[in-house]
This record gives sequence, structure tokens and C-alpha cells, in this order.
Amino acid sequence: MQKFYKNLSIWLIVALAALFLFHYCKQSPDRRHALPYTEFLKKADSGFLSTVTMINNTILWETADGSLFKTVVPQTNDALEHLLRKNVTVRAEEPPQTPWFLQTLLSWLPILLFALLWFFYFQKGSGQGGGGGRAMAFGKSKARLINPEESKIKLDDVAGIDEAKEEVEELVDFLKNPGKFIEAGAKIPTGVLLYGEPGTGKTLLAKAIAGEAGVPFFSISGSNFVEMYVGIGASRVRDLFNEGKKKAPCIIFIDEIDAVGRHRSSGAGSGGNDEREQTLNQLLVEMDGFEVNNHVIVIAATNRQDILDPALLRPGRFDRQVMVPLPDVGGREKILKVHARKTKIGPDVNWQVIAKGTPGFSGAQLASLVNEAALLTTRRNSQTISMEILEAAKDKVMMGAERRSLILTEREKRTTACHEAGHALVAWMLPGADPVHKVTIIPRGRALGLTMQLPQEERNSHDRTFLCNNLCTLLGGRIAEEIVFNQMTTGAGNDIERASDIARRMVCEWGMSEAIGPLTFRASNPLSGQPAQIISEQTAMLIDAEVKRLVQAAYDQARAILEQHRAQLDAITAALLERETISGADIQVIIDSTSAQ
Ligand code: ADP
Ligand code: ZN
Repeated sequence: MQKFYKNLSIWLIVALAALFLFHYCKQSPDRRHALPYTEFLKKADSGFLSTVTMINNTILWETADGSLFKTVVPQTNDALEHLLRKNVTVRAEEPPQTPWFLQTLLSWLPILLFALLWFFYFQKGSGQGGGGGRAMAFGKSKARLINPEESKIKLDDVAGIDEAKEEVEELVDFLKNPGKFIEAGAKIPTGVLLYGEPGTGKTLLAKAIAGEAGVPFFSISGSNFVEMYVGIGASRVRDLFNEGKKKAPCIIFIDEIDAVGRHRSSGAGSGGNDEREQTLNQLLVEMDGFEVNNHVIVIAATNRQDILDPALLRPGRFDRQVMVPLPDVGGREKILKVHARKTKIGPDVNWQVIAKGTPGFSGAQLASLVNEAALLTTRRNSQTISMEILEAAKDKVMMGAERRSLILTEREKRTTACHEAGHALVAWMLPGADPVHKVTIIPRGRALGLTMQLPQEERNSHDRTFLCNNLCTLLGGRIAEEIVFNQMTTGAGNDIERASDIARRMVCEWGMSEAIGPLTFRASNPLSGQPAQIISEQTAMLIDAEVKRLVQAAYDQARAILEQHRAQLDAITAALLERETISGADIQVIIDSTSAQ
């Protein structure tokens, strides 16, 4: 409908402009040659003229040869007398009349045009009332609005994060029936902070609260507040809260609040902080001015709760903090099922198995797993999603899409196979390491090959053995290349980086080095503005030595394993070259048969 009006107005403008032009052109068809008054008098005197036409004080006349002239007569003139004396027939005519409506229109046209432009500008600006998502004008909040009629997300759509859900459920009651709570004198938090890894469903949860309560949902990202111009952010915050109050009861959702709410003293010297601080201050002011009877609940989300300014978390502001964790096995199964509701599932699908095979997956990753599976099903023209399709989708989400178009040279292929066989064999031989799930030399994402391990159970903490095993496995790839080809390649770059990182954290964060003991050494954190802990040069050297020692020990252990099992290494490499992807079960077969020989 709005579009229709817009089109109509555009046509109106075009029509008006055309009319204006037409009129303008019509008024000056006069090609008469203008002659000065004195010339005209001379002509009249010489008896040259027989007839003239007067329109106001313009005289139109014609010479004997048919040339047309016009002359403007001065206000005080004696032309008439002159002409009459010379026997010229004088005819007077009314000036041509523009129709009254055209005249009015023409005089109002510029104002009209201006008004129309203005109208459009504001039409575009006011994101209210429609479409859920037009940006507002400069200085306006730029928030997206989802009206209750449009929101289809309910609490049922959020799965696997039951504790977080429980903590926010009462907000739904409050928004539905605020009077009840106020009468009972209950204090409902007006500010709720959801924190947790990206993709765990924070936005989804906030939307579900609004959807369940049937209230409008304003959403904006913290980064939208922070602009180049000082003062814009603050005015956007003000505007957002004003809009919210107008639509109360409602939910205001601020995603990535760390973009504005970062610790204020942090990043000093990086410049441009004034704007952020002003915005944050405005946010604090607005939150403080909020009362329960505003019936507006502000929900903020972040995955960096640690870097938020403490002022944001004080009572009366975001004083309820809800952690939204990565889902556990059971949670993953529920999330998968929620997303599978819209798809056709084959009889062989066992969600528990998929849930077990996706440790560390976020809700968003699980959603995209199901989506990938649905896409694959369509691409293969099959009717229902099968277990095999789900496995393929899982691999894709976990490791990135296969890059079959990337052609490896025969030599690269051999090195990659040997490298991955190295990882797999070391992981296989180490007691306590996670079982090898799959090894592949099909390039995915940026990796040329991959070895995937799957934990047998969920782990929430790691012991020292596990970490050392990890170091060995990571180094296994490079060592295999060294043993077989007596060569090093860049393919191990990422492994080495990860190994160094683990070793450094073992020493500096987790106190796992005997020589240093249970001490932590904080590195600088540019985000929270925390400076690095000051340590003596001696300690720094000791840390470096300990990190090196850990990595070296792992290297020696892995090398010993691979040298001792050279036959198995070669057999796995050969299997990889032949089949490109092998499973843990395949490796078991290979190792058994090679050892038996
Ligand atoms: P966040 O805001 O925490 O980064 P989102 O809420 O944007 O994550 O999640 C992105 C998508 O992932 C959601 O739209 C939903 O499809 C899916 N998702 C994430 N967590 C869950 C969950 N707990 N239950 C169901 N779906 C989820
Ligand atoms: Zn590797």
C-alpha cells in the first residue's frame, strides 16, 4: 500500500513539472522583434502604421511587409494621443488570462515540491508501524521493530538451554500482565543481560520472550550506536528508549552490547572513545530513569561479558545476568529436533547419535546442520533426510564445505595423506586421547586434509594428560612428513600454532609446569584494556623455556610412536590415498592387519 502511494506521488510530481514546463513554453511563443519606444514613435509619425493592438502597456504592430514588432510603452506616455493624431486605428485587448487554478498552482508549485520531498524523507525515516526493519533517519535509533503480529517465535522454539529459559520465563508473565506484579510489590528486573558464546540462542531467546508475551520487539546492535559523529550514539539511545516507552509493554534488545558497553577506561589512546563513552553514559542515564511501570524490558546480549563496564551491571541496570551456555548432548538433541520439525525425517535417523557426534556445536551450528541436510536431500532428489545425509551435513558444518575443485598435485596429495596419517596414528596410539572419528584428504575450507577426533563423553575441563596428548597429536602430522619425506611443508603451520598456544597456556594460565608452579601470568588484553602482568626478565625466560620443554617432550613422544609404527603409518597413508576418507573403524582394521603381519 505504501508503495502505491509512493508511486502515485512520484507521478504527481512528474505531472506537475510537465504542466509547469508546458505553461512556461506557451507563454513565450512571441517571436516579435522588440523595438524601442522612440523608434516606434518615429514609425508612427512617418505614417507607417495603420493598426496597432495594445495589451496593457505593450503595443503590438506590424509593418507593411508583414514583419511583426512589439514595443513596451513607458507608464506616462502620450502614445495614444500621438496615434490618434496620426489616424492610426487603436485596438485594445485584454491581457491573456491564465486559468485561476493554474495560477494558484504555479505560485504554490515550489512549496508543494518541497513539501513532497520532506514527506518522503520522513516516510523513509519513521521505521514505525510497518515492515519491521526500515532504518530510521540520522540520529534516530535505527532499531528494527518486530510487531507482535509478525513474530512467530515462541519459547518452544528455544531448546537445550533450559536454565536460561527458566530465568527469563517470568518476564513473559510480567509483560503479559504487569499490573499483577506491581500490585504484589514484586520487583521485576528491567535490564537483563544474556551472555554466552555466539550462536547459543541469545537473540532467539529474547525474541521468544516477546513472541510469547505478544509484545513489540525492538532490536538494535550495539555497533549501530557508535558512529563517527560525536553525539549521534547518545541521541540514538535516547530515541530508542523513547520509542520503547511509546510502545510499552515491549522489549528492547541490544545485541553486542560490548560495542558500547566496553570498560570505559580501556583502550586509552586509541582515540574516538568520547563518542562511545557518551553513548554508554546515555544508556546508563536511560536505564536509571527506567521504572518498572514503564513496562519496558531491556535485554542485552554479549559474548564478552568480561569486558563490560561494571557500571552497566549495577543494580537497576542490567542487574540480572543470565548465562546462555553451549548445549550439552541432551540439549543438542532437543535443538536438532526443534529444527527438524519442518523437515521430513527418514526412519533410520537417530538424533542421539548426531547429538553425540557434535560436541561443542552451538545452537546456530545445529540449525545449519539440519538446514544443510535438508538442502542435500533436495539436491539428491530424495524424499526424506537420512542418517548418511546428516553425517555429510555434520562434516560440512564442522569442517567447512569440501573443496573438490581444488586440485592437489600428486606430490601434495601424498604429503597430505602422510601428514594426516601421522595425526591419526599418534592419536590412535596415545592412551587417553580422544578416539579418531574420521580422517580425510579432501580439502575443506582452508585445510588440505583433516583428522577428526570425537570425545567419548562431554568434557568441561581438561587434565594435563589430555593436553599433552593434544600436543603430540598436533605435532604428529609434521613429524610424519619428516620421517617419510625427510622434508617440512607449510601444511603444518596451523598445527604448530595451536600446539604453541596450548603449551603457553598450560604454563601461564593453568599452572601446569613443575618448574614454575601454580602461578598465572596474565597476558595483555586489548579488549578489556587490561595490561600484561609485569614479570621479571628471569621469569619470562623461564616461561619460554618451560613452553619449549613441553612442546619438545610432546615432539619426542610423537616421533617415537611414529617411528615405532612405521608400517602402520604407511598403511594408513596408502588407504587415504586410495579412499580419500577413512573412518575410525577403517583404521582399526588397518592397524590390526598390519600388526598381524
Ligand atoms: P546468538 O544471539 O546467541 O548469537 P542466535 O539467537 O542469533 O544466537 O542464534 C542463531 C540461530 O541459531 C537461531 O535463529 C536458531 O535458529 C539457532 N539456535 C541457536 N540456539 C538455539 C537454541 N537454543 N534452540 C533452537 N535454536 C537455536
Ligand atoms: Zn595437520
